[in-house]
Amino acid sequence: MPFSQFGLEPEILLAVQKAGYVRPTPVQTAAIPKVMLGQDLIGIAQTGTGKTAAFVLPMLHRLSLAQRAGRMGKFRVLILAPTRELAVQIMENIGTYGQHLPIRVAAVFGGVDEAAQIKTLRKGVHIVVATPGRLMALLEKQSLDFSGLDLLVLDEADRMLHMGFLPDIEKIVEGLPRQRQTLMFSATLSKEIESLARRFQREPKMVQIGKRANPADTVEQCVYEVAAHLKNKLLLELLQHPKWQRVLVFVRMKDGADRLTEYLRSSRVRVAKLHSSRSQEQRTHALQDFKDGKIQVLVATDIVARGIDIDGVTHVVNFDFPVNPEDYIHRIGRTGRAEASGDAVSLVPPHDLNLLTHLEFFIGRRLVRKRLKGFNYNAPIPPTLPGEKPAKRDWRKRTREREQKKQETPSKTSAKVKAHHPAKKKLGPPRPQGKKPPRPA
Ligand code: AMP
Repeated sequence: MPFSQFGLEPEILLAVQKAGYVRPTPVQTAAIPKVMLGQDLIGIAQTGTGKTAAFVLPMLHRLSLAQRAGRMGKFRVLILAPTRELAVQIMENIGTYGQHLPIRVAAVFGGVDEAAQIKTLRKGVHIVVATPGRLMALLEKQSLDFSGLDLLVLDEADRMLHMGFLPDIEKIVEGLPRQRQTLMFSATLSKEIESLARRFQREPKMVQIGKRANPADTVEQCVYEVAAHLKNKLLLELLQHPKWQRVLVFVRMKDGADRLTEYLRSSRVRVAKLHSSRSQEQRTHALQDFKDGKIQVLVATDIVARGIDIDGVTHVVNFDFPVNPEDYIHRIGRTGRAEASGDAVSLVPPHDLNLLTHLEFFIGRRLVRKRLKGFNYNAPIPPTLPGEKPAKRDWRKRTREREQKKQETPSKTSAKVKAHHPAKKKLGPPRPQGKKPPRPA
């Protein structure tokens, strides 16, 4: 089935052809006609299966028709995305698919100069791709006029409707015209989030490709069960394999990303890090270096877990196992994109095995366990390496040691306390139970 079946504008077909797409993906086949008809839609499809084009192509088609009919006017489309990187990527996709159309698009996100964004908006744009935080700030300054809007898209809808973002989304949507089309796309969407999504839509059509919680079939998944203190070393050894060329490593916390990056760098791995405490410039730089193949490894928190499309990621590593199964699906979806193959490797220490079991229940199958040949899984806790925090020891042992030390050498503070509060027997006879002493008159 070719793209021409949709009746898209010739300029869009030309751009699609230039992008090298031969036929639409299943989510595109199902969603494009519905979006062209102006219907509200919830689209669920695996990561990397062409969801962006599924809403951008019909959106451009409708804008182009409006423009030809002289009905273009003020800005018409708002696309909300959870991260700056994803907003930029969507904007780039619009640039690619709309390269033969006179359509102006702007991105609005934090971490960069606000004044420049306001200036671009004032010049007039047709599409705004935004993250909720900066958009709210601009709305408060009344730098945006929504009155002409007729299409709202929530990309990574489940993330957008999560608690952290929800109040902002509600406020933004409140200020939009009621007569509009609303589209929601995601790879994962729980029933609860779906019912929440419906609050913003009118009788949405549902497009669901594959099972709701399935990772893409093109991703090989496996697990290495390994002690927490050996994860660094195991990762370093795995990285030596020539197939591990472009590796995206996910960690849970920002300081974990800093420490792991330091460790890998000191072991001569070409590595960069990406998390929310880095400047926008550093974030863009790290992502670009990774895309250009200048570095082998990008260590990141979940801010790159969603939607980001990087060509040729050979491996995704869950260095820290994700707490939510949905995050696992999105993380590993950074590889095996557009039908390429990829590997997802999880390093799971004993204390995270419960999370693994929960995930396996969620996806309905057990993941393959692997062991790296020649790796010493019983190695003792190594001495602290540069950039590493000392490994945590058993807290019971630590408490016992502390107690023992206290008994052997009373601390200065406890000596001072004793001086202020001499032993009880020196205070005189105990107060009679149950009766308070009379108050002084
Ligand atoms: P997305 O899920 O939108 O992030 O897209 C994932 C990747 O698939 C991107 O690299 C797109 O360029 C690519 N893609 C999207 N649609 C098609 C198509 N119909 N044929 C081939 N590749 C596509």
